[in-house]
Amino acid sequence: MSQHHPKVVCEVDTCTHWLPGEVCGAANIDILNEEEQAAESVEHTMCKTFAERRGLANLIGSADNVNWRGAIEAAIMPDRELSPTTTCVVDSCVYWEDGNLCMADEILVSGSGAKECQDTNCETFRKK
Ligand code: SF4
Ligand code: SF4
Repeated sequence: MSQHHPKVVCEVDTCTHWLPGEVCGAANIDILNEEEQAAESVEHTMCKTFAERRGLANLIGSADNVNWRGAIEAAIMPDRELSPTTTCVVDSCVYWEDGNLCMADEILVSGSGAKECQDTNCETFRKK
């Protein structure tokens, strides 16, 4: 049985993994606590996989974390949506489950115009 992963909807249009339609083209994203202590609010979470889009060098640099299979499946199978797997360590969230899994159906990563990981948030975080 394959593991549950939420559909990722992302507003962070300055990220090298971002694609039009609020899609994340990364193979996997890591959602982390911004501080050492467990997150208490949305602002304490971040997408660590964020990388600022900076021309071609950056694009090539991110090529080892591209969901190529998902992109091909999305292109040939209309009901397949492109979305990365999610690894989340924010265990103070109601959706978190053992194995660093997120059991939400969908997560929203916010932070339009972000310049660094800390500018992004998992909007779907809800404190346990
Ligand atoms: S910020 Fe995170 S979720 Fe959004 S496109 Fe970048 S890697 Fe994907
Ligand atoms: S909704 Fe909660 S468990 Fe899921 S990625 Fe966001 S912070 Fe992690």
